[in-house]
Amino acid sequence: MTVYLVNPSHVSFGIGVITPRWLYVLAAATPAAVGAPCLIDETLERFDTAAIAAGDVVGIGIHTGNALRGYEIGTAARAAGAYVVYGGIHASLYPDEARQLGSAHTVVTGDGERAWPEALRDCMAGAPRDHYAGGRIEGETFLAGRWDLLPAGRYMWASVQTVRGCPKHCSFCSVWRTDGQRPRSRHVDQVLDEVVELRRRGFRFIALADDNFYPVTLSDLRMAARRKDPSQLERLEAIRAERFELMEALAQLPADTVFFTQITMEAAEDPEFLDAMHRAHIRGALVGVEAVTPEGLKDVYKDFNESGEALVTRLQAFRRHGLHVLGSFIFGLPSDRASTFDATLSVAQRAGVTFAQFVMLTPFPGTLDFAAWEKSLGTEPPSIGGVPLSRHWLIPQANRPKVYMEHPVMAPDEIRNRTQAVWDRFYSLSSIWSRSKGAVSSLRGRLAFVLISKIYRQMYANTGIATDSARVNRSAQWARLMAIPCRRLFAGRPMPDLTVTRPARQPSARPIEIQHPQAPDLV
Ligand code: SF4
Repeated sequence: MTVYLVNPSHVSFGIGVITPRWLYVLAAATPAAVGAPCLIDETLERFDTAAIAAGDVVGIGIHTGNALRGYEIGTAARAAGAYVVYGGIHASLYPDEARQLGSAHTVVTGDGERAWPEALRDCMAGAPRDHYAGGRIEGETFLAGRWDLLPAGRYMWASVQTVRGCPKHCSFCSVWRTDGQRPRSRHVDQVLDEVVELRRRGFRFIALADDNFYPVTLSDLRMAARRKDPSQLERLEAIRAERFELMEALAQLPADTVFFTQITMEAAEDPEFLDAMHRAHIRGALVGVEAVTPEGLKDVYKDFNESGEALVTRLQAFRRHGLHVLGSFIFGLPSDRASTFDATLSVAQRAGVTFAQFVMLTPFPGTLDFAAWEKSLGTEPPSIGGVPLSRHWLIPQANRPKVYMEHPVMAPDEIRNRTQAVWDRFYSLSSIWSRSKGAVSSLRGRLAFVLISKIYRQMYANTGIATDSARVNRSAQWARLMAIPCRRLFAGRPMPDLTVTRPARQPSARPIEIQHPQAPDLV
């Protein structure tokens, strides 16, 4: 009997950018008596389902983008006589769909750390229940990944989680509804131990795969301080203190460690926090800029962000404190006009973001946008090949539209073409080369920067926005070729003897503010 854990993907690149953390965490949650599960990541290569035998257990984790491929695997697994278990955000939102279209024996909803081993035991006993509710477990019970199961030389970045949940409520995002708005922080020692293990294994680049690394802002603290009841302020201060404690611990790692994370733009107002991030070897962050106009920010319930010139200044603050920014922008918002595309590109360039992604507004299940859009389609939504548009993830990849939400003034093709043009201009060779000057200093480093920028563009833009499958295949092929030298750039020297001791706690000591004239080299 073999236990499989599968991360489905309709496109494979041979090399992965970031380890799919959930596979390794659920491997750790798998009872020791069962033995090590067989981990399948289809972003590396396609899973040959002919290997599945009767009596095997196949756990499939799905998000909306890979649900259809997940259902194909589940259907093949059940036909082979295996037990099929689904989990992940999409299965939590649509458990019945996984049963009807993915041949699920059972579905795990919510966090999988406790529910997966229970489902697995019942499958092995031949009597799985219909549903296992994983709920939201507390931070101290998050598990470290079974990194001993990592295939050698296949991933560029490792991943570690420090906090789940996000207190915001952006309309296009499901994180705050699925992981909750209360930040659930992991214990500092557990994070540090896991990071040390990954550095021992030769990972120098590690993604802090958090929903929001900056869960308490200065304005949250100011607002809480105005309340009569001090309990909220105390709670927020405790979360903030824990973040600082974590960063002080990460600061003890070898100097060439590089972390990358996700934060909200409000962190730019908090120099103490940014400096602590820098000391902790956090060299970059994905910042959800989303829109460059006040109207656009209102569209996505993100009016805590800045717009216009204030936005440029805020983004520049990250660089002043030694942090590179991967700016994330959304196109296709109701207030967008033809001029928005150029304006967005100009902000991205003037603000000095090191990388950028330009995504088209897509109504993902579990979001406020999706609920409003689904309602607007009425009881008889338009369909493609018999699949209602409101279940767009079930439309085969090649026929799936790229723009779903009707725009007041622009046609879907106009939005797609203009989005593609912004990607093309931001990632033109001359733009990348001139950006590389601010990101790295050596010629080798600049060449590496060009390679990384190009691969990022091929993997994320061309395989996502292109409408014809030939272009998608070509891009995947290019990405495959470039991924091999790119991975070598990220590989670190294994440090089997590395030990890191946490500094003694000094609650009253305030971190010293430091100035960084330039963000440090990335590679
Ligand atoms: S987009 Fe980011 S800030 Fe907004 S709710 Fe999602 S995780 Fe939080």
